[in-house]
Amino acid sequence: MQFGEFEITSLSDGNFRLDGGAMFGVIPRTMWSKRVQPDDRHRIVMSMRPLVVRAGGTTVLIDAGVGDKLGPKAADIYGFDRSRHLDHTLADAGLAAKDIDIVLATHLHFDHAGGFTVRDGDGIAPRFPNARYLIRRGEWEDATHPHERNRASYLAENYVPLLEAGRVEFIEEDGDVMPGISVWRTGGHTMHHQIVRFESEGRTAIFVADLIPTVAHVDLPWIMGYDLYPMDTLAYKRRFLAEAVAGEYVIFFEHDPSVAAGIIRDDAGRLSVDPISS
Ligand SMILES: [Zn+2]
Repeated sequence: MQFGEFEITSLSDGNFRLDGGAMFGVIPRTMWSKRVQPDDRHRIVMSMRPLVVRAGGTTVLIDAGVGDKLGPKAADIYGFDRSRHLDHTLADAGLAAKDIDIVLATHLHFDHAGGFTVRDGDGIAPRFPNARYLIRRGEWEDATHPHERNRASYLAENYVPLLEAGRVEFIEEDGDVMPGISVWRTGGHTMHHQIVRFESEGRTAIFVADLIPTVAHVDLPWIMGYDLYPMDTLAYKRRFLAEAVAGEYVIFFEHDPSVAAGIIRDDAGRLSVDPISS
């Protein structure tokens, strides 16, 4: 998609499956299963859609999917289908790993940061050999000091090797990471989860990451059970949706299996998403 001065491309690192109940928090299965059909292990299909943005001479990748370091046990639990993964979709966009200048993390859960590193002989190395990795400092602290509730989502091999390789630059606060591209802390999902905003020629697009993971999560109370601070998600979502509807923001959904981007509409309190195909 050409978006003002930016060329924005939604990529894919394949699909995986998460427990449907956990994905919808307090929403009963009788309701969410009308929107999304679970499989025989009660899981729903989710995509992993990193975003690549080309602006001037700089290429920015936002999140990188799960990558290929997980073993067969995780593959079974999460039902990964990476028959088409990030390398393929980068190539479709005319890019290779060496072309990425900046990798920007929304947060460090394994389905977003797994693709930041690769196995390299006996060790683990940065996946993007020429990239600086921009990571919010608070998220880094939480990811390197996990507790019982978030431990399963934070795998040190996805980010600690980046620091050891001298590739990490910490983001301390909200604001521009480059002209027209800024990050905003939402909290909620994790304390320092952030979304990415693009502004060009009077239009706004947002990569919402796990604030609104799929189009089925647009309604206010449809909040993941995974969220550590669901009331913060609710408060941020309430403000964000009002702004996004009024401004006709282009929303990029990181986990929706069929809608990569769309515009959220409010028809007398009934929210829906108009998908964008190009
Ligand atoms: Zn997450």
